[in-house]
Amino acid sequence: MKSWEKHIKLFIPGPVEVYPDMLKEVGRPMVGHRSKAFQDLFADTTEKLKKILFTENDVFLSTSSATGVWEACVRNCIAKKALACVNGAFSDKWHSVALKNGKEADSLEVDWGKAIKPEMIDEKLSTGEYDALLFVHNETSTGVANPLYEVAEVMEKYPDVMFLVDAVSSVTGMKVEVDKLGIDVCLASVQKAFALPPGLAIFTVSKKAYEKAEKIKNRGYYFDFFVFKKYLEKNQTPTTPSIPQIYGLNKQLDKMLEEGMEKRFERHKEMADYTRKWAVERGFELFPEKGYESDTLTAVTNNKGIVVADVIKKLEEKGITISNGYGDIKEKTFRIAHMGDTKLDEIKELLEMMNEILGGG
Ligand SMILES: *Cc1c(COP(=O)(O)O)cnc(C)c1O
Repeated sequence: MKSWEKHIKLFIPGPVEVYPDMLKEVGRPMVGHRSKAFQDLFADTTEKLKKILFTENDVFLSTSSATGVWEACVRNCIAKKALACVNGAFSDKWHSVALKNGKEADSLEVDWGKAIKPEMIDEKLSTGEYDALLFVHNETSTGVANPLYEVAEVMEKYPDVMFLVDAVSSVTGMKVEVDKLGIDVCLASVQKAFALPPGLAIFTVSKKAYEKAEKIKNRGYYFDFFVFKKYLEKNQTPTTPSIPQIYGLNKQLDKMLEEGMEKRFERHKEMADYTRKWAVERGFELFPEKGYESDTLTAVTNNKGIVVADVIKKLEEKGITISNGYGDIKEKTFRIAHMGDTKLDEIKELLEMMNEILGGG
């Protein structure tokens, strides 16, 4: 058996475990991407996406990972200078993507594990230097959920600053009400809390974001909002999309709406509460600043000096896996994802295995 043929159940923060019903859905026969069948699929999928994102804005499907949509944001929405909120690996990378696209961007940095506070953003934006804010809602590298709702209140004072939100690992696991929050672009990829195979990202674009983009030169082609919009009017994508993921997404959205979004957020919170409680009871500390813990993954500080690689190896022998820390905090933390289709009982089973491996004390 090839190494990748063995099924190891994933409790890592992306890609997450894809359950058999979705694996079956993405295996449907193809339709042409200019066919009526595809237009129906596209229209139905984007209508349902609007519901789960609480928005009337246009919703797009991008055959790329979320990183591509970071590039879309910086190319379409920064004319002057962006302020990138940085408190982990993903937010740091988004900042660098802006710079690599030749845009001006400053960073507002706090230590990894700490949250970005609304007053910090307010102070920076009050200088009038910036026309876009790059804000990562859920920093997957540190397990910190930045206070999106409080930040959105500050953003009301700055209607000319584009509010660009990476909600990659929060959307559908934590509430993100795009219209109420005044988000100009909200982006996510489907291998996180949507629990689908990777290869597709989704994003919303506000009226204000179009008005801004219209005046910006060199938006490129693959991620130009107006190229997307032209095809949206026909319920199509500009280029051949990852149709399998769209089949899966459509079905997954039905499942979500059936479960009910509030219930879905509640399920994620219950799994998070259980995991945090387990960690603390075992004598570990939580890595995120208190009060800013994510509901879709738990980052645990390895204050007990366990050998994370050994624990992961033993879990994998049992057919299951979690994640070590990300980047600079690889050895200092470990991360347990509880998002997507995962149920509390599965988290209980995982943590029971962790108890067996870690032993008493
Ligand atoms: C995973 C992740 C990304 C990158 O997503 P890709 O789909 O791999 O490009 C960006 N931001 C956050 C917060 C993430 O968790």
